[in-house]
Amino acid sequence: MAERPVTCGVPQGSVLGPTLWNVAYDSLLKMETPPGVQLVGFANDLTVVGTVVSGQQLEDAINPTLTIIDDWMQSRGLELAHQKSEAVVLSGRRAFVPPCLTIGGLLIPLRNDIRYLGVTLDKRLTFAAHASTVAAKAARSAAALFRLMPNIGGSAQWKNRLLASVEESQLLYAAPVWIPSVTEVAKTRAILIRPQRTAALRVIRSYRTVSDEAALVLACMPPVDLLGLERQYIGSRLRAATEPGEQRSSKAVVKREARKTTIVAAWQARWHATPKAAWTRRVIPDLARWLGRTVPAASSRCWQCSDESDTVEHTLFECPHWNGFREALSARIGRRPSTADVPDIICGPAFELLPADAHGKDTILSEAEERFRLFYGMVENTLSAKEEEERVRQAANRRNSP
Ligand SMILES: [Zn+2]
Repeated sequence: MAERPVTCGVPQGSVLGPTLWNVAYDSLLKMETPPGVQLVGFANDLTVVGTVVSGQQLEDAINPTLTIIDDWMQSRGLELAHQKSEAVVLSGRRAFVPPCLTIGGLLIPLRNDIRYLGVTLDKRLTFAAHASTVAAKAARSAAALFRLMPNIGGSAQWKNRLLASVEESQLLYAAPVWIPSVTEVAKTRAILIRPQRTAALRVIRSYRTVSDEAALVLACMPPVDLLGLERQYIGSRLRAATEPGEQRSSKAVVKREARKTTIVAAWQARWHATPKAAWTRRVIPDLARWLGRTVPAASSRCWQCSDESDTVEHTLFECPHWNGFREALSARIGRRPSTADVPDIICGPAFELLPADAHGKDTILSEAEERFRLFYGMVENTLSAKEEEERVRQAANRRNSP
């Protein structure tokens, strides 16, 4: 008999527990069962699965099995908590005679859904209840994590990645089992995506009115249901038998290929088809290009003046490199424009502040119109010039790199 030290492990309960359970239950799990009946053991959980065509057949197959299990337990001095047993009938049919399943003389209640190994199985296997459960859970933990954020070190980007991955892992627990059913139904899919949307809005610091579709694209977060399908695909690829002589792709290669399919095929198709986010779609028509973009993200250094933050505000109002584009608007308003001027410029003067006389009103309105025109021109010129310089810089980088 070998002796080995236990270095990691089972603080609560006994180390031998799982093994003993396996040894003890082995004979039960191996017992003869009626056709269509299967016993599934996991950890300390025992499930009796019956596959039949009618409720009566279910009673005929399951009830004797339950009696045998009960007797088996009793003969070994184990007590089954009869009142804790529950059952769910998984059926595509709406109308069927509910079976009377009994154990130890007690009727087993039929539930609409049942939680099994962390997955909520509803009677029609839509997994809508499951999606709601995991979405609520992910939202709770994301909120808690977000409250902690100021106290954790690291960059904003790193924190956002952390937040997103925590959510994803909660949302996608055991996903290969249930994700295909969920992703087919828009309503259920939306439930699953809701907490992801919240995280995306935090990442992009955007308004609540932004659509789910645009928020996820702007935050570079593929929809979680597509990530679930990706997991399912990766799992099946890695488990698939290889042809003789065929070399098995490494996990990293399979994952990379799968991500490419998720983005280029699935997400792009959905992005293309959505009736929402029309403007964002015009700005970002090509997701692969957007996700693999080579221009620096908003938080990095300004290439034109080496300022710390390359933000929209810096580019439009502060960066000395673009002073020329601000001249016309500055002359018009008598000072250098700033972010604080934007609401007035883009909305015009408040209606109630306009003078009553027609001439005075016209003067103010045409002045406002002119400011708006100059502001618009400034934004357009600055952004296209910046983009052009970026392009030139990248081309030079490519030439210089070996
Ligand atoms: Zn600058």
